[in-house]
Amino acid sequence: MKMNKVIAAALSVLKPKPILTISDWADKYRYIARGTGPEPGLWKTSRAPYTKEIMDAFSTSANIVVVMASSQVGKTEIALNMMGYYMAEDPSPIMYLMPTEGMASDFSKTRVDPTITACKVLNTLFQQNAKKTDNTIELKTFPSGYLALYGASTPTKLASKPIRVLIADEVDRYPRELKGEGDPLKLALQRTTNFWNRKVLIISTPTVKETSSIVEWFDKSDKRYYNVPCPHCNTYIVLNWDSMKWETDSDGNYIKDSAHLECPSCEGKIYDGHKEALLQDGVWIKTDLNKNIPGFHISSLYSSWVTFEELVNEYIEIADSEDNAKMREFLNLKLGEPFEAIVEDLDIELLESHKFEYDAELPEGVLYLTCGVDVQDNRLEYQILGWGENNQCWVITNQMIIGSPEQDDVWDSLDGVICRGYSFADGRKLPISASCVDSGYLADRVYKFTTPREHLRVAAVKGFGGEGIPIINNLSSKNRTYTKVMKVGVDAAKAVIYARLRNHTKGKNYIYFPLNITHGCGDEYYKQLNSERRVLDLKHGVKRFIWKKIRDRNEALDTFVYALAAYEMAAPNLEYIKEQLANQQFETEDDDDYADGEENLISSGIKLY
Ligand SMILES: [Zn+2]
Repeated sequence: MKMNKVIAAALSVLKPKPILTISDWADKYRYIARGTGPEPGLWKTSRAPYTKEIMDAFSTSANIVVVMASSQVGKTEIALNMMGYYMAEDPSPIMYLMPTEGMASDFSKTRVDPTITACKVLNTLFQQNAKKTDNTIELKTFPSGYLALYGASTPTKLASKPIRVLIADEVDRYPRELKGEGDPLKLALQRTTNFWNRKVLIISTPTVKETSSIVEWFDKSDKRYYNVPCPHCNTYIVLNWDSMKWETDSDGNYIKDSAHLECPSCEGKIYDGHKEALLQDGVWIKTDLNKNIPGFHISSLYSSWVTFEELVNEYIEIADSEDNAKMREFLNLKLGEPFEAIVEDLDIELLESHKFEYDAELPEGVLYLTCGVDVQDNRLEYQILGWGENNQCWVITNQMIIGSPEQDDVWDSLDGVICRGYSFADGRKLPISASCVDSGYLADRVYKFTTPREHLRVAAVKGFGGEGIPIINNLSSKNRTYTKVMKVGVDAAKAVIYARLRNHTKGKNYIYFPLNITHGCGDEYYKQLNSERRVLDLKHGVKRFIWKKIRDRNEALDTFVYALAAYEMAAPNLEYIKEQLANQQFETEDDDDYADGEENLISSGIKLY
């Protein structure tokens, strides 16, 4: 630590006092390389006037500046201008921190290198260097400083160097917590504490409100919003989506050129054509005078590179699709607003409307079958799901095979379940095309069943909880029997299932339940499906969502998760299957033919995909 202080002191003594602000420097020296920014050529702060005060906040006594922003407002250009300034004008040890190492190295190659090449003053810094090792993808050394481009997911590197200038980009995508190391942003900030004149930019589009780092930092700031004068009444207003209006024709289609903001004061219409003048006359206004950290919020409504019309068209398309994930993205990326997670209970009563009379084992619409299996000490539980177009899902059956899974007979029974055809009312059949068996308990016994059936897409799986783990992960075979086991991100799977259970509009992303009790979906089934809640949890000072069991038994939810994982794993081409199924000969034989063995199935049913 002492050494760091010595270096810090030495560097600050050697430095000439900077005269230019970052915006001055950028207007004078910063070139945007062709193909890397909205407008190649010399950077002009006046093209995005709201960026001036953000960048120049570093010329004040402020050590930390927070920016919560949408995409397309020049966020990355602000960061690159800051980087260039502290390389050329006020040389310092700089860390540019991205969410992952891969993103950092991409950013280094596609944005940082072209910026250095395009800006003469930056290029000169490196020409003075003789050694090639001084300029690598992740570390660029220049006189009196260096630029380290790291990923927030690699803790060893975060702790390795003293840093005066930290650019923490896309902080909402950093891992919440590194194993045994804590919050990566805090780790990086610790590297800067030896510098009295440290300069830290914390910048990101927000994600989920309750767990968002950028929302937390913005809350610690003086929360500035860009106010622009209404062209009609001259009142200074903040542009927000609530004021966005447009007109539609009698069919409900958007009428071209009608998108505008309505002034909350005079109800005057503000169109894209007004924007340039508005932005020039805008001022940042603090909304929390008790805080000292400069904090800025800016959305693409202010962007010089996005029109109101484009935003409205995008919004209409998403609203029509009823896709919550896309709406959330629109809120985060276009409006720079966090998304409030809905931590609501599942209304079991409403699931009543999801129950339908199936006219056969398989109702029309099903194109693909998957099975999820859970292993308990005295039984196996399985659930078969049918999948159709647009992620429609039909619960086909939910059953138990009673008996100890240490005995062969329960596995023989499961074999019968997996290797038979399931019938539509007209006699056509579908096989189960993919299955996932939980190997969390009696793993060796599970492998004995799955390994010889890998060609039938029967996979041993292991569930992992935790935010950010995708449903499907690579197969790993690091266990002692070298059996392939697939890691299933159960939290991601549950989030998908619960979102679809809350969708009460038949069609896309809808789940259908069988009315007839022989399909195994009685009251207990629905209670089990509703056995977990997504709650906000605070652990080691880090806020995150976890799934909490509210009932002891939840096998129906587990087998649903595994059957969904099987579907995601197989990723079938449903269009092709639909064609094949339409051409299938109507079966007339007795169903019993399918009761034992896969050979029957492959010759009589349709082929496995
Ligand atoms: Zn007005």
